[in-house]
Amino acid sequence: MELKCTVQHYDWGKKGMNSKVAQFLKAANPEIKIDEDKPYAELWMGTHLNGPSVLKNTGEHLHEYVGKNVTILGDKVRKTFGDSLPFLFKVLSIDKALSIQAHPDKQLATNLNKLHPTIYKDSNHKPELAIALTPFKALCGFRPVTEIQNFVNTIPELHNIIGDNTAEHFIGCNEADAKKYLKKCLERILTHHSDSTASQIKHFINRLSSMDESSREMLHASILERLNADFPGDVGCFGIYFFNLIELKPGEAIYLGPNEPHAYLSGDCIECMACSDNVVRAGLTPKLKDVPTLIEMLTYQCEPGSQKLFKSKILMNNNFAQIFQPPIDDFSIIQINITDNTIKEYKMIPLNSASILLITEGKIEIDNKIYQKGSVLFLGANEQLQLKILSEKSPTVIFQASANV
Ligand SMILES: [Zn+2]
Repeated sequence: MELKCTVQHYDWGKKGMNSKVAQFLKAANPEIKIDEDKPYAELWMGTHLNGPSVLKNTGEHLHEYVGKNVTILGDKVRKTFGDSLPFLFKVLSIDKALSIQAHPDKQLATNLNKLHPTIYKDSNHKPELAIALTPFKALCGFRPVTEIQNFVNTIPELHNIIGDNTAEHFIGCNEADAKKYLKKCLERILTHHSDSTASQIKHFINRLSSMDESSREMLHASILERLNADFPGDVGCFGIYFFNLIELKPGEAIYLGPNEPHAYLSGDCIECMACSDNVVRAGLTPKLKDVPTLIEMLTYQCEPGSQKLFKSKILMNNNFAQIFQPPIDDFSIIQINITDNTIKEYKMIPLNSASILLITEGKIEIDNKIYQKGSVLFLGANEQLQLKILSEKSPTVIFQASANV
């Protein structure tokens, strides 16, 4: 069943046809006019009420359709999650950084929801998986301690904000004390007076402009300048010295488990997440920052950025399908990638969960209907699709999100 999905025009999105979201929308719905001045930030594929998908033929909301036909979810999904789709599938096209954030685990989400129900509206966790469609930059997890120590030591403006005492303790501490002092440093930065932070950042930016190229590179000057242009004087600009700066190539992925600090900086990606709105923000945002909660919840696990890449596995000896399978029940993503143009038919592996398919490249035929790049399909549990591959020169690429039960 083909779906028509909601686009979110958040201001951080890529504009017009630069955006994968707009490209998919236009390819699947040629009648739609794309506004080149408008950001096309997110495509939402699922049943979330803030951006519901509808059945293309009848206009019925997917969540109503699922509600009337609950068996299509699959027995195991219903047993684990009740009668609703447990995940939200998205395409993101990012021009301007998203806030530095972390998502609580289930226990913390329950507590936060009890304490502050207007801010933390539900009690669910919100693991996320992002697969790059274009070169994709993100901040993800804490850098190795020695890297952070080195930045604090060599950037006087950062040293000033943290305060000499705490900064010196952190720089000189041994591995056993690193977490404690790192937490203290982060707390000092995030609670520092915002005017003073802004003037330190301004000072640093001025200094960067007169540095030689190798020093600038070491300090990731161009990224800092870009962040500061979008969020002038925001404390989050210093996030690049604490969190791993990751550049994903198309097809590479990161998984963001509970209490893991992260921020998407730029690029297009496929994203899947558990159904929840629980975000604790710390910077690069005009939205509410909940610094005390964030400081307490983070894991302070320091490791190299290379450890953060999330690897896929071959799906059941199938040469054309890989699965990105995080350690949670809520979702997984299968990527079908048919690059061999002599393949004209492909039988999809049936799943015990309802799933949503997005075609990102190529053209296929199912039951005499043609679907192409940008088409989004809903598939019931245990249904098996036989695809006719119509793509001639280009590969056929399909992403399929389902519950991971
Ligand atoms: Zn997130």
